[in-house]
Amino acid sequence: TKFEALGLEKSLLDAISDLGFETPSEVQEKAIPILLADDTDLVALAQTGTGKTAAFGFPLIQKIDKDSRTTQGLILSPTRELCMQITNELQLYAKYERSINVVAIYGGASISDQARQIKRGAQIIVATPGRMKDMIGRGMVDISKIDYCILDEADEMLNMGFMEDIKDILSNTPKEKSTWLFSATMPKEVATIAKKFMNNPQEITV
Ligand code: AMP
Repeated sequence: TKFEALGLEKSLLDAISDLGFETPSEVQEKAIPILLADDTDLVALAQTGTGKTAAFGFPLIQKIDKDSRTTQGLILSPTRELCMQITNELQLYAKYERSINVVAIYGGASISDQARQIKRGAQIIVATPGRMKDMIGRGMVDISKIDYCILDEADEMLNMGFMEDIKDILSNTPKEKSTWLFSATMPKEVATIAKKFMNNPQEITV
């Protein structure tokens, strides 16, 4: 399939086939080969509804070390709804992987339940910035060893006033990692984050 040509492995191709995806969307076609090829930073200008969850989700799942329970990937997203939606999608993408735990972290729900889920070993955390910062402050989550940080709907997150939370969260991540930023628009605040926290990112626009 065209997904196979992008470099995705069998477990993901089987999940993609179950989902009924036949052809990669434009953002998937552009982002997936870049993200699979090497550990690069990426800025992707893409609206919601373009298939961007899979554009970062497929490479992330393929690259995670399945033999380790350490938290390796962090996805920040603006709202609780989006957070749950991304988590659900990633769980579907990972259905044929031996053991990938994706945990959603968001406000308005029990923090101790979420901490318990993290404790069981979450290779991927999908979080809203406020709750994430809170849990870091309480020592409930360790993102000091992540390899991949994804900022989804970066413009929305910054519109909602999460600039300081995002800076705080990113300062708790290792310097040596890949950052993938997805945004529908590129206002000054997004450019500031990209400049301060990203290393020579490749850029794609759809
Ligand atoms: P997103 O932009 O990630 O919110 O995705 C929008 C919708 O498109 C979701 O319901 C996805 O499941 C679906 N989708 C993503 N990629 C594809 C694809 N290549 N073919 C068909 N549907 C897709």
